[in-house]
Amino acid sequence: MKTIPDNWSKLPFAYYPTNYNVRCYYRDGKWGELEISSSEQIVIHMSASSLHYGQESFEGLKAFCGQDGKIRIFRWQNNWERMNFSARGILMPEVPKEIFEQAVKDVVRLNREFIPPYGTGASLYIRPLLIGTGARLGVAPADEFLFMIFVAPVGPYFPTGFKAVDVKLVRDTDRAATLGTGQYKVGGNYAASLASGQKAHEEGFKMVLYLDAKEKKYIDECGPANFFGIKGNSYVTPNSSSILQSITNLSLCTLAEELRLKVERRKVPVEELSDFTEAGACGTAAVITPIRSISDKEKGKIYTYGNEPGEWSVKLYKKLQAIQLGDEKDKYGWVTLL
Ligand SMILES: *Cc1c(COP(=O)(O)O)cnc(C)c1O
Repeated sequence: MKTIPDNWSKLPFAYYPTNYNVRCYYRDGKWGELEISSSEQIVIHMSASSLHYGQESFEGLKAFCGQDGKIRIFRWQNNWERMNFSARGILMPEVPKEIFEQAVKDVVRLNREFIPPYGTGASLYIRPLLIGTGARLGVAPADEFLFMIFVAPVGPYFPTGFKAVDVKLVRDTDRAATLGTGQYKVGGNYAASLASGQKAHEEGFKMVLYLDAKEKKYIDECGPANFFGIKGNSYVTPNSSSILQSITNLSLCTLAEELRLKVERRKVPVEELSDFTEAGACGTAAVITPIRSISDKEKGKIYTYGNEPGEWSVKLYKKLQAIQLGDEKDKYGWVTLL
């Protein structure tokens, strides 16, 4: 049995071994039974399509422990839908809803003692994975696949509090092509972003902001997170064929409307960065990462949004977290109680 963390709030966002994971194999045109494993290893053919041709997709979601001691899984149905959207995009079989649901619930229950307690700011990160395992040397989709889920307790993204970060706008790299795979949650997009991400980190930036690959005129994505800006009474977020539909962003749009902001999902020209009073990146890991500055070195411009997180960013962040933890009523039916 693996060691339970002794300081939940100090946990980084990193792999942490837990006792069990769940797996389901697709062979001969059909999905098999869900299996429970205590091994951290998977055995796959060295010629598997996922290893050579990137036929793989993943998901990320979280489970939280509420003040009432109940476990809440946030919007897993959306992750299931998105995983199957990715699967269709790169020719993998869709995972039936019953299998996905059972897998998520089983893996959380089986690792119950690794779910961080309420009040620590930590949560249980859930990582579903769908990979081509069939041997392929010629470029072709595999005939065998593995769907699995493992979990890891992760600490609060901002251990020292909600802090604004510096972002680098890049013009020499694209994460995803305009009509490429940017809308799918696939490893290839991440491979494409590693070098520019590392370079930005070395230069002291926390994140990279990409522009649309075709015209370099519009905001695309902020590393592995969606971008949003606040302008007047509007929540503005890019609409693009090469960004991943963030479930956090979807949720924030709903909450923004509830807070009487107008939601604008449209092309966002780079120049509009100077009109925003607040800017942020959003995703499961941090919910919202407020942005302090965006440096567009090539154009000699720096857009600034203040050292402290803005009013709307704080409101939206708190509201979404309150729903996830069960502190606020789940009126949209986002939470599955375990
Ligand atoms: C996962 C991911 C996001 C965030 O999506 P959430 O569902 O909010 O976690 C944003 N952009 C990219 C490229 C991603 O892979």
